[in-house]
Amino acid sequence: MKFFLNSYKKAIFFTIFIYCMLITPLKGAKTSVSSSSSSSDQQPKLITYFKSTTLLKTPTIKDLQNQSRTSKINLFTSSDCSIWTKECSNEILKIAQKTEHVKWIKSVRRKIHEHPELAFQEFETSKLVRQELEKMEISYRFPLATTGIRATIGSGQPPFVALRADMDALPIQEAVEWEHKSKIAGKMHACGHDAHVAMLIGAARILKAREKNLKGTVVLIFQPAEEAGNGAKRMMKAGALENVEAIFAAHVSHQHPTGVIGSRTGPLLAGCGFFKAVISGKTGQASNPHHSIDPVLAASAAVISLQTIVSRESNPLDSQVVSVTSFNAGDNLDVIPESVILSGTFRAFSTINFYQLLKRIREVFTEQASVFRCSATVDFFEDKDTIYPPTVNDDTMYEHVRMVASDLVGTTNFKVVPPMMGAEDFSFYSEVIPAAFFYIGIRNETLGSIHTGHSPHFMIDEDVLPIGAATHAAIAERYLNEYGS
Ligand SMILES: [Zn+2]
Ligand SMILES: [Zn+2]
Repeated sequence: MKFFLNSYKKAIFFTIFIYCMLITPLKGAKTSVSSSSSSSDQQPKLITYFKSTTLLKTPTIKDLQNQSRTSKINLFTSSDCSIWTKECSNEILKIAQKTEHVKWIKSVRRKIHEHPELAFQEFETSKLVRQELEKMEISYRFPLATTGIRATIGSGQPPFVALRADMDALPIQEAVEWEHKSKIAGKMHACGHDAHVAMLIGAARILKAREKNLKGTVVLIFQPAEEAGNGAKRMMKAGALENVEAIFAAHVSHQHPTGVIGSRTGPLLAGCGFFKAVISGKTGQASNPHHSIDPVLAASAAVISLQTIVSRESNPLDSQVVSVTSFNAGDNLDVIPESVILSGTFRAFSTINFYQLLKRIREVFTEQASVFRCSATVDFFEDKDTIYPPTVNDDTMYEHVRMVASDLVGTTNFKVVPPMMGAEDFSFYSEVIPAAFFYIGIRNETLGSIHTGHSPHFMIDEDVLPIGAATHAAIAERYLNEYGS
């Protein structure tokens, strides 16, 4: 800073020098998002430049927090980021880490955590979100899919980019003893959706503070019923994706340290379906089996045959699962039952493989039943919305997340993660528009936030909240910069 005070000439020279340094690599950054094929050779230039000038070492999450406390810039004004620089990422992070912002975002999350609501019952959660949006003077559409909200920030003009948070809790009794434990017996935010809502509300505040920078419109989607009921599908039917050309979402993860971001290109989460088959025969005394038609034998053969779908028909390099999880033939020791009920689940990473599994499961049940003179019916619960397609990240949108996250939290705090056999209803969005889903770490051994989602011991390190809010905001603002006019 002293440079600028020594002499006017030195100041001019220095300004030109800095400008030349900034402008060259950032042209590369801009094209790397719009072209997935060229991204890999453009990107290293960007990282090298930041390493050599601004980011001498990749900051830890603690560094990022300290950085904001020592900042001297006005946190609610922003520079023109039409050409994105590291300083733009820093500004977003500094707004997110401001003490008052952190306090507020944590309080929002705690209120939601104390009052968990199941699928399509998120009335109070939705009300809280709307109240916060109103305080920020952010317009929204409500209701979509019973409790869902579509809010917008920016110019109101294209392009439209969406950020999504899910709002529903789980029918689980919280086992964590803490000040803000769930006040509703048998219900708990055990998957971190309370944190997702808080992070998106936090992002809304950052984006509102930087609204004049937005070269298009950010759509905030607060959706119901991710855990059950295909809330995403219902939101889409209600117009949540109107005009939207790309969508992003985060999920907290106990597998990564707090604030570490992970994702991958292509299939990230599996498609998931469930089945229930009824194999019917003819009941009779077990002592005279020739007078009955035995559905237990038919069902047993079906279970074995189902295992051959993956082991003999699927590409071993393309992971798939068929699991029979329940086999119910009654409890009579002396009688061959009239019918057997079997149920289970199946997973695959591509839509084609997923529906091929569904077709073969149906065929195996009906054909194996007929071999043993029985009949079979198979229900895939399609009418109850329990089928989730695979979540597939678009190459270009993944690259955008990777670039934004690396810039914001440092390259060593971004991880390429393997695909997982879990499922997410974000897949419905990713089926229709370019999308990217990413994880954000909440693991902190000291606090005890080490448990997997859907565990009654699940808890999060709340330090993730401002980082998640900043990541969402940077993804959206930078997307509009790259693709806006
Ligand atoms: Zn879940
Ligand atoms: Zn979840």
